[in-house]
Amino acid sequence: MSKFKLNRDYTRLNVRIKNYPERKEKLLINDYGKWVLLKEEEYKKYLFDDMDEVLFKKLEENHIIRTPENARDILESFRNYNWNVGNGTSLQILVPTLRCNFTCKYCYALRRNVDEQGFDMTEETAKKTVDFIFQSPAKSMVIEFTGGEPLLKFDIIKFVVEYAKELNKKHKKILDFAIVTNGNLLDDEKFEFIRKNKIGLCFSLDGPKDLHDFHRKFTHDPKKSSYEDVSRKIKFYRLEKGYNRTFAIPVITKYSLNRYKDIIKEYVLHGLPIFRFKYVTYFGFAVKGWESLFYEPEEFIEAWKRVIRFLLFLNKKGIRAQENLASYILMKIVNNRDPGFAELERPCGAFIGQALYDYDGSIYTCDEARTMDEEFKIGNVYEDTFYDLTRNKLCKTMVSNSSLLSFNCDNCPWYPYCGICPVENYKMHGSLVVNLPSTHRCKIHKAMIDYLFDLLLHSPEDAPYLRKWGDSLDNKIPEKIPSEEEFDALVKEFESKYGE
Ligand code: SF4
Ligand code: SF4
Repeated sequence: MSKFKLNRDYTRLNVRIKNYPERKEKLLINDYGKWVLLKEEEYKKYLFDDMDEVLFKKLEENHIIRTPENARDILESFRNYNWNVGNGTSLQILVPTLRCNFTCKYCYALRRNVDEQGFDMTEETAKKTVDFIFQSPAKSMVIEFTGGEPLLKFDIIKFVVEYAKELNKKHKKILDFAIVTNGNLLDDEKFEFIRKNKIGLCFSLDGPKDLHDFHRKFTHDPKKSSYEDVSRKIKFYRLEKGYNRTFAIPVITKYSLNRYKDIIKEYVLHGLPIFRFKYVTYFGFAVKGWESLFYEPEEFIEAWKRVIRFLLFLNKKGIRAQENLASYILMKIVNNRDPGFAELERPCGAFIGQALYDYDGSIYTCDEARTMDEEFKIGNVYEDTFYDLTRNKLCKTMVSNSSLLSFNCDNCPWYPYCGICPVENYKMHGSLVVNLPSTHRCKIHKAMIDYLFDLLLHSPEDAPYLRKWGDSLDNKIPEKIPSEEEFDALVKEFESKYGE
């Protein structure tokens, strides 16, 4: 305990520091992401126990120092920020089939051909899986169907939803469902079931026709446009039927990196205000085509920054649009709340936050892990209990490994907002233990957090919009969707203003 000249007791908490030398400012961030921006003179006063009342209050309110007055609040904030550690597995990913009627260039799922046999989940396995899932102590859970193309086994989706709801009468969890789909097999009958059960529908939409069709082809008719199909479905079910629980996501490859305005235009015109500029990941079929699909992290970041500038420009013109990963980072920065988003989790979600149940009942630590042969398989719904897997050595290793405490992050100021993927590290570098700052993911996330903080602190015209992104992801269908001509006029204005 120190005593400063106002005769008040306090303890300095551990902080990381980001310097803005040209502005003579220092950003101090504590271990659970609360922060304060100080002028250099203020920093010196903090350092040399020479604070006045105003500075003391500022540091106390932002948990840079602990005092008898804020000690309880600090404990509470620390617990809230790390809620995911003791929450129980809440994202339950289920593969009704590994078959798919598409062949996408970056497919990480290692999908099988649509007419291959032996890759579908049986009702017996589905039942065992749901029984297993309900052993999780999580109070709220999402059961997500992925593939292959999950709509090929809609009977299993129906069975799981109905059986899970039945079990939940006893368990009383907050239960949600989502389907990740290419959209091709969606029809009115399936949609009625989806709507009745409020199931989230997540489509893939890679951008305009040429890009989408280039990335995503039908296996049996590669010349047919998959864009036209998915575009029609999104417009029909989201805009005409008014189903708000529709989402879409593009995967950004070397081919689409600089087409961000065209891709965002597709999202705006489809009434999709949440947009994710998702970098391609080193899994599944993407590994084969890596050289032709991926870019240097620096190239990606330059494009991503242009995306943020463009979206903020649209916001100022009254168009609701936000980048998904940026919004999750901002939730941590602005509201000191961990949104539980898998790619930014620390520790990562390996079984403590998510699990993947393959079509044959195999259990993997997470979605990415299933592409790694047996290495990340931790059990089977027929043989293991949830309790067995909480003691699994691989899960424990991954959790401690991804806490970032033992790696070369040195004093990286962005540590409280960051998340790593041990499976990706293993896949790319052959080891769970890697020099994190040299990885693609670190370079990308570091630059993202850096850029967002800089805008928040130093760009008063952008900060209010970014704060709004950090409040929530607003997926409601916008009241007004601009016409193509109106959007093109905005693009022109943006280009002449920013030269991009
Ligand atoms: S990314 Fe999805 S739709 Fe495309 S091939 Fe893979 S499983 Fe099928
Ligand atoms: S992984 Fe990179 S961005 Fe994350 S804390 Fe470590 S050095 Fe910082």
